[in-house]
Amino acid sequence: MTRRVYLDNNATTPVLPEVLEAMRPYFAEHFGNASSIHHHGQETRGAIERARGSVATLLGCRAAEVVFTSGGTEGDNLAIFGLIQAGDHIITSTIEHSAVLNTCRHIARNPVLAGCDVTYIPVDGRCLIDPADVKRAIRPNTKLISIMFANNETGALQPVTEIAKIAAEADIYFHTDAVQAAGKVPLNVDEIGCDLLTISSHKIHGPQGVGAVYVRKGTQLVPILFGGTHERSRRAGTENVPGIVGFGKAAELATAGFERGDHQKMAAARDRLQRELLAIEGTGLNGDGAPRVPNTTNVYFDGIEGESLVIALDLKGLSVSSGAACSSGAIEPSHVLIAMGVPHDRAKASIRFSLGKQSTPEDIDFALQVIPETVTRLRDLSPTWRGTAVSI
Ligand code: PLP
Repeated sequence: MTRRVYLDNNATTPVLPEVLEAMRPYFAEHFGNASSIHHHGQETRGAIERARGSVATLLGCRAAEVVFTSGGTEGDNLAIFGLIQAGDHIITSTIEHSAVLNTCRHIARNPVLAGCDVTYIPVDGRCLIDPADVKRAIRPNTKLISIMFANNETGALQPVTEIAKIAAEADIYFHTDAVQAAGKVPLNVDEIGCDLLTISSHKIHGPQGVGAVYVRKGTQLVPILFGGTHERSRRAGTENVPGIVGFGKAAELATAGFERGDHQKMAAARDRLQRELLAIEGTGLNGDGAPRVPNTTNVYFDGIEGESLVIALDLKGLSVSSGAACSSGAIEPSHVLIAMGVPHDRAKASIRFSLGKQSTPEDIDFALQVIPETVTRLRDLSPTWRGTAVSI
């Protein structure tokens, strides 16, 4: 049987065994609707509130400030749509996840929100936003600044604390998409100084389809889903109880992981992978020089089509990602790498490697065995690769 190694944890992470065990009773045994006042309802209500407490501990906030959602995408939508009204201005960045970018694009085109405008702050070659650019973009009608905490393609950590200060001084709401930061770097909403923060369960070894938004006490959000009074009338709909319980357990394990120093071990494994990949000729690091989450590295392999490398590695048993997106039938390179000024060909030759809690030293050994041989084979077939040793 082909050995399978998964180094695409920024796409999703496997549910940890403890998380699955915590969820199991909430599919059949404890099935009540948490809005019911009887025993069955109160049992699941209690489980939801315990999970809320665990997520609040991970974020350093009050339990009442946590709103459960269906994931990061809904969280980003709730944070943005929840605040924006006709005529408002939003500041975001060119490297946001599509959950923020496409929400902002939609707002700018939506006749119901007439007069809304969005400024997209650029990044430098390291994938970093300059807070001075954010400050310069502020207008009298700026209502919200939304800048991600960690980028999903490069792992670059943005200067969110400085940006939050700028927002607070101008009396503007600050939202940060921390989906790729949660569980990888410690988060504390008061230290960050944000009003809103989004996280997603499946990026921290919890189940898919559940997430949360931190909403600072006193922040008036208009819901995007209308119905019952769930989540203190901020998000209608019967709660995904097993999902929320699993998310709570994953949050608890993430908090414990920081205390044990798990992320230092992960950074060491990532650094070994990166160092040895960069020893292959014609490679380089995208986003060099930026502070980063401990699990991510994004490397280009000149002369190779990233998608071909992803497929060739998959056939050998290694799952990684190219960050490319299919647009109008063509494969377009990652918008993040393009925003950083990485040339088109090099962006298309880039691969993201992202580790998870389950990643072992043997997984890294396996990756380091299959990647160089696959790169050599693909380059032998490449019309554009001549290597550095050959001169014409
Ligand atoms: N924001 C970022 C930075 C992400 O990486 C992702 C998922 O890849 C999302 C938002 C969306 O989260 P979800 O998959 O839970 O909808």
